[in-house]
Amino acid sequence: MSFELSQRLRRLPPYLFAEIDRAKRRLRAEGKNLIDLGVGDPDRPTPAHIIEALYRAAQDPDNHTYALDFGMTELREAIAGWYRDRFGVELDPDTEVLPLLGTKEGIAHIPLAFVNPGDRVLVPDPGYPVYASGTIFAGGEPVRMPLKAENGFLADLEAIDPETASRARLLFLNYPNNPTAAVCDLAYLEKAAAFSKKHGIILCHDAAYTELAFDGFRPPSFLQAEGAREVGIEFHSLSKTYNMTGWRVGFAVGNPEVIQGLSKVKSNIDSGIFQAVQKAGVAALTGPQDFREELLETYRRRRDTLVDGLNDLGWKVTRPRATFYVWCPVPDGSPSADFAKRLLEEAGVVATPGVGLGPSGEGYVRMALTRPEEEIRQALERLGRLKVS
Ligand SMILES: *Cc1c(COP(=O)(O)O)cnc(C)c1O
Repeated sequence: MSFELSQRLRRLPPYLFAEIDRAKRRLRAEGKNLIDLGVGDPDRPTPAHIIEALYRAAQDPDNHTYALDFGMTELREAIAGWYRDRFGVELDPDTEVLPLLGTKEGIAHIPLAFVNPGDRVLVPDPGYPVYASGTIFAGGEPVRMPLKAENGFLADLEAIDPETASRARLLFLNYPNNPTAAVCDLAYLEKAAAFSKKHGIILCHDAAYTELAFDGFRPPSFLQAEGAREVGIEFHSLSKTYNMTGWRVGFAVGNPEVIQGLSKVKSNIDSGIFQAVQKAGVAALTGPQDFREELLETYRRRRDTLVDGLNDLGWKVTRPRATFYVWCPVPDGSPSADFAKRLLEEAGVVATPGVGLGPSGEGYVRMALTRPEEEIRQALERLGRLKVS
């Protein structure tokens, strides 16, 4: 027998990392030592008090049952409190806050709530692939917004033609940005809110990296923007903020109708987050935040080592103000997939080819600061021996 995959799966963009994945496996099997700057997954452990909270909560049988789809009151209140402290924005924990099984889950599901077959969804290019795949699963058409260096990698909303804007249901933005590491200011988010209002589009701001910023910069929240709550929501994640990628906890906040639509989809698909993990989430959001100073200092040192090192080698790399990514123009102008393959084969350094994150990512590779400084230094040494230009 053979089983044909659904059209929605066949409509997904091709997975462009397969060749790199294969080469990685082969080189590892050959015993090669690879330095993996490809994956955006924190290498530092979850802070101990959060693990402790999980451990305690896991022992309580009251936490072993199905959780409520829309999360424990305690967690929704903790989220609202964190948001107030961090951004000065008041949220109603009952109607404007929705815990998620990670931000990815919410991003993948929101099109099912608001997108009909043929509707357009505006997605950043390059960008986190889930904006487009969630859209395709809902029968929608992703429309790419190129992020260009000359615009500081901000999506140019004025360049979107009115016909497309009128057929768009959702607009995804993501600042601080993965993969370009670009940041935006509040004025930009206000313009985006006005654009969304004008065209009746729901704006979904992915704010997974607001807590990873350097040099005193504090990234804004979309909900601080004038008119934001009328038009959209913001996604946050505990994954990068608290080194909790494996735990699966994030949240959406903002417009109550949008929150309710997403919640309705979820109530038909999942049955909430394990309550012990929700309690750990409460511990993360309400507990001591002082570990972050050290974490940011660690990423900052790695950033400076990598950026200075690459620039010494003649690459032309800018120092990111946020995220744990460095977005590097390919120094010899070769296609990013070829260049990433060379880095891997000849230097044993794994980087993500920009084209794999969207056609406008061509010409760049992304390196993640999620490896120890010592490894980053080794990577630089190896790259120094590589002939480029
Ligand atoms: C890591 C990441 C996420 C996913 O976060 P989870 O909460 O772990 O699902 C979402 N968006 C972007 C841009 C990311 O880089």
